[in-house]
Amino acid sequence: MRWDNLAESPATPGDAALFGTSAVTTRTFDTPEFRGITFHEVRARSILNRVPGASRMPFEWTVNPYRGCSHACVYCFARKTHSYLDLDTGIGFDSQIVVKVNAPELLRRQLASRQWQGAHIAMGTNVDCYQRAEGRYRLMPGIISALRDHANPFSILTKGTLILRDLDLLRQAADVTEVGVSVSVGFTDRDLWRTVEPGTPSPERRLDAVRTLTDHGIGCGVLMAPVIPFLGDRPDQLRATVRAIAEAGATSVTPLVLHLRPGAREWFMAWLREHHPHLVARYERLYAEGAYAPRWYQRRITRHVHELAAEFGIGPSSRPGGHRRLPVRGEPESLPAGDEPTQLTLL
Ligand code: SF4
Repeated sequence: MRWDNLAESPATPGDAALFGTSAVTTRTFDTPEFRGITFHEVRARSILNRVPGASRMPFEWTVNPYRGCSHACVYCFARKTHSYLDLDTGIGFDSQIVVKVNAPELLRRQLASRQWQGAHIAMGTNVDCYQRAEGRYRLMPGIISALRDHANPFSILTKGTLILRDLDLLRQAADVTEVGVSVSVGFTDRDLWRTVEPGTPSPERRLDAVRTLTDHGIGCGVLMAPVIPFLGDRPDQLRATVRAIAEAGATSVTPLVLHLRPGAREWFMAWLREHHPHLVARYERLYAEGAYAPRWYQRRITRHVHELAAEFGIGPSSRPGGHRRLPVRGEPESLPAGDEPTQLTLL
């Protein structure tokens, strides 16, 4: 796809109000890959986003070059963040993608600031930084280069096999700082994948990416998320998934049961009513207390996956080179004090 295939329209007063800046350019791509998707290019004021101190998340800083995600997972926790832009949290989240086109230069500038202490930066914590848009906008090479040049530790969580494009840069960064990469694969059931994660590379392709990363010295963990109750939690499904993760050479596996926070819950339940109406009542009971499945259920899944991981020999990475496992996510958090809401999500 070349840029001359783009349709472009200037910012409208409505865009300016929406994104807090007049520097919004709206583009559409007339190719099958991007049909129906609108890109809102903005020049962000800040790219380093502080996770609130009260958060129980194991990282304090994030970088999110995109908002919205064409991977279109029905359970995506980040859906609600689109409402902060007055954008739709359903189809709008999947198809109205905000692109912070100045993210690399802004990050380089902020990393060079004397106030910056070189803290770990997590990426992929809101939406996927290797979603399809990244193939066009190529923001991540500039971001990783800046982190490499400042020897700043970072981690990436993704479902995007596009990360392999940046393998050389990741290796260069891992030579000078701690680099953590995790790929999210909650299940290997292809029928479930097609309906629940329709815009993502298949689980097999994601696990191929795990293998490639690991083979090239970037140890890669798998966030086994989400484990979807009654659809992806049968013992044979868990076993097949953990076995495939082990065969891919993952350095760790971290199970996480589906959360249904506001924004995600409505969209997921609408999907459930359409595709698995017989499960609606069971879900309402399982998530009757709120966004999380009961602790007994979470413990049961975690224990089972850990037993399978031990059986298949998945363990901590022993590779040299500074690889670190991505911090485990999934606890609820409040909004940061900065101007950009961050809501951590399952990738
Ligand atoms: S869960 Fe991750 S990959 Fe899926 S839509 Fe949300 S941000 Fe994108």
